[in-house]
Amino acid sequence: MTTPIYYVNAEPHLGHAYTTIVGDALTRWRRLLGDDVTYVTGTDEHGLKVQQSAEAAGMEPQAFTDEIAPKFAALWDRLNIANDDFIRTTEPRHKAAVAELLQRCYDAGDIELDTFAGKYCVACEEYYSDEELVDGDRCPIHLRVTEYFEEENYFFRLSRFEDRLLDWYARHPTAMTPEHRGNEAIGLIKSGLRDFSISRTSLTWGVPLPWDETHVAYVWFDALTNYLAAVGFGDGTDRYRDWWPVDYHLIGKDIVRQHCVYWPAMLMSAGVELPKGWAIGGWLLSDGDKISKSSGNAVDPLDVIGDVGLDGFRYYLLADTTYGNDGDFSYEGVVSRYNADLANNLGNLAARVATVVAKKCDGIGTAPDADSALAAAAAAAYEGAAAQWDVVQPSRALDATWSLVRATNSHLEAHEPWKSDPGPAVDTVMGDALEALRIVAVLCSPAMPDIAQTLWERIGMTGEVADQRLPQAAEWGQYAGGATVTKGEPLFPRIKV
Ligand SMILES: [Zn+2]
Repeated sequence: MTTPIYYVNAEPHLGHAYTTIVGDALTRWRRLLGDDVTYVTGTDEHGLKVQQSAEAAGMEPQAFTDEIAPKFAALWDRLNIANDDFIRTTEPRHKAAVAELLQRCYDAGDIELDTFAGKYCVACEEYYSDEELVDGDRCPIHLRVTEYFEEENYFFRLSRFEDRLLDWYARHPTAMTPEHRGNEAIGLIKSGLRDFSISRTSLTWGVPLPWDETHVAYVWFDALTNYLAAVGFGDGTDRYRDWWPVDYHLIGKDIVRQHCVYWPAMLMSAGVELPKGWAIGGWLLSDGDKISKSSGNAVDPLDVIGDVGLDGFRYYLLADTTYGNDGDFSYEGVVSRYNADLANNLGNLAARVATVVAKKCDGIGTAPDADSALAAAAAAAYEGAAAQWDVVQPSRALDATWSLVRATNSHLEAHEPWKSDPGPAVDTVMGDALEALRIVAVLCSPAMPDIAQTLWERIGMTGEVADQRLPQAAEWGQYAGGATVTKGEPLFPRIKV
């Protein structure tokens, strides 16, 4: 599983957090299924903009990136991301992989020297297409007149891959999910592919081409190759095949062309297997990079963690947006979903069960009914969640999980054990609820690892919820009873709006 590597020219923001949390939850889900997962993220550190930012800061590019990259790593720690690797494109292992991939494509005859021509802004040191220019021929950044330049660049012959790509995707129709995003990529290929420039002589901050060191690899051959570099491609062995092809590249909709068109063509050229899957997310839209609280104060989206807790924040990002669609991030949206799904639903259920067990069962958990009406609800919740995680739809997977929370609340309301005298009937109803909470703890743990563990312990389970294995752990009737049930502080204190 991979995220895009994030460009160090900007500080980490909500969009980075969103994609990385989706990948984290998927990783945790697959581990519950017993799969061996390596989850890779990292930083993209080469290129002209980094070189310029470093110069502006009076620093060497390496020193500049050495300052920014740890901010991403620190954010992943703060968000409890279970990544196994953090690759930086300035590492020797990455440069070796880029050189290897370039050489293979060059040897295959798919990289050739040609003339690159275009409108160039001297201040930006950047070419602009006619669509990007403003007022005819002015740079969109500096509004100064651009100049027509020509230079020799190496080009990747992408135009040769149209039929091969269309044929491959026809044979792998579910490789890109969701389908409507995949269709966009197919549309790009069908509209015709143009060769793209892969080198610059004006750039120094990057990986030199192995056969012509006067050129430095430009953007995509450098950045995309991180996915192979992370698993050992280019180290002179076939070790990378232990992990390659990747199961899921998680990407945003803005980089579909590069990931779903350029990248598979580059791999075909180099004789490397294509990815098994791409999961393409939308954008999480907020008002600029800031959101405003009802008080009118603009806050960093990540600051809502202070109000709803880390797992409340993770839950919101995963549950509120259908993966592939754009989401709308607002403070009011976070709080309203937190109160509805977490405080009033799961949190209330956990507190209610612990209270009744304390009053009617001496605080000791009781066993469920093997034929409980909740058994079918639990089976449906698991099957729904599994099917949706499998197609990278966390919001639907969590909705399936919450169907068991809702069914359990209804079960309690139907039996009203708090009105009954202690005895076998109450014991069975509470056993059913405890068993449902045990299964909910397992199923929600990819989204809310810490809360799931707390819930697990409060109902008297031992060990780590993350060590449970599905589908066995979702089978009804495993809550044995006999352990102390603890109420504790509210799992999700209600937020007053
Ligand atoms: Zn400019």
